[in-house]
Amino acid sequence: MEDCNKFWSGVVADLNTKISTVSYDVWFSKLVPIAFDDSNIVLVAPQKNYKSILNSEFKATLISCIKNQDTFVEDFIVITNDEKEKYLKTLSPPESLGLFNENFTFENFVVGESNQIAYAAALAVAKEPGKLHNPLFIYGGVGLGKTHIMHAIGNYIKNINPYKRILYVNTEQFINDFIDSISNNKDNEQNRKFRQKYRDIDVLMLDDVQFLSGKRGTQEALFHTFNELYQTHKQVILSSDKHPKELVFLEERLQSRFQSGLTVDITAPDLETRIAILKRKALTKKANVAPCVINFIAEKIDSNIRELEGALSKVLFFCSLADKEPDNITVVTEALKDYIEITTHAVSIDTIVDASCAYFNISKQEIVGKKKLKQTVLARQISIYLINDLLGVPLATIGSYFGGRDHTTIIYARDKITEQEKTDNLLALQIRDIRAIINKK
Ligand code: ADP
Ligand code: MG
Repeated sequence: MEDCNKFWSGVVADLNTKISTVSYDVWFSKLVPIAFDDSNIVLVAPQKNYKSILNSEFKATLISCIKNQDTFVEDFIVITNDEKEKYLKTLSPPESLGLFNENFTFENFVVGESNQIAYAAALAVAKEPGKLHNPLFIYGGVGLGKTHIMHAIGNYIKNINPYKRILYVNTEQFINDFIDSISNNKDNEQNRKFRQKYRDIDVLMLDDVQFLSGKRGTQEALFHTFNELYQTHKQVILSSDKHPKELVFLEERLQSRFQSGLTVDITAPDLETRIAILKRKALTKKANVAPCVINFIAEKIDSNIRELEGALSKVLFFCSLADKEPDNITVVTEALKDYIEITTHAVSIDTIVDASCAYFNISKQEIVGKKKLKQTVLARQISIYLINDLLGVPLATIGSYFGGRDHTTIIYARDKITEQEKTDNLLALQIRDIRAIINKK
């Protein structure tokens, strides 16, 4: 708690240089920081309307001040006083804002096809910094785990050897430090501080080097810093949203330095990995989340892991406010309705039925017919459940599609699958696969 106050006072100091006193007094002076949630700082506002104002008008400014603090915090969440208690219950136990985010460890990093090479390289570097891959350059899109991996390396090395001097900084911080160091020519003290901070270390991690764009002076300083560290066998780890070759604004000599070690990428996670990440997240939050809920989120959000986690947090938050359990699709769709587009318009009854038929290898006549074979009945019931879930078509309409069954039969099928999906892992898996087939159409 103390940490988040300290963090917030840094943000406030920065904010005051960027917005008017009146704006500050009205919208910021009454905010109270209460916790960190993943990479967010949680702020309590006195009234509801703060949420929309802070999330629109001041969003960009606030985020940039947050990032300027150069910690793991990257974004904010605003809640009202009434929501505070319930919100706190959804959080994992409080963590301290040390050098590295304690949650960003190798253990908490779910490994899949999209990141296994980056993971292996990072672990190797963490075990023997300065020996194997120097520099290690990690690149990939937003929210795919670059910062997490860097912190994991930091946590790992610190654990083994607390005396290692490891510096993690965001490139924006590096730029600021460089500017400070030259802002007063006569002041050699600043210059000395810069050198000490960046050269008197064992490991340098520089996050998001794409921000070096247009910063000639800083690039030069980095080039010298890099050489000195490299020559003394100190480890350098860099991250960026693109391959070094594509960082066209970089001085050529820096570009070639960046590529002289090992370059690895992280791509968007596949469905299995997304599900595993959500499961892990639910576990650390000590939340009991039904497989159908996890699968649903994993299917809907397929590119950015930060958003994936954000969606889960939203669902848990929604459930705690509404006193509901995260155990059915209705709750999720309600919780996320402003967040993602829930109804896939391209999907029709036919698409769903075709997907089930394909999955169970049965014909359309069979599925709408009277057959009572176990597989056929299951395929029929899952289709009914999915049609109701994805399309919200009236029950009678579904009934007539399935050979004139009456609506109680449809309700029975829907409720049976809804219940069974909560406990039956195989069924949850089958439904997930069928949803995936539907989504591909
Ligand atoms: P980037 O720096 O690439 O933009 P981050 O490292 O900040 O992304 O990751 C965004 C969020 O996703 C973090 O909360 C992080 O813990 C989580 N995350 C990313 N990759 C994984 C993974 N493989 N396993 C578990 N969590 C992950
Ligand atoms: Mg990052």
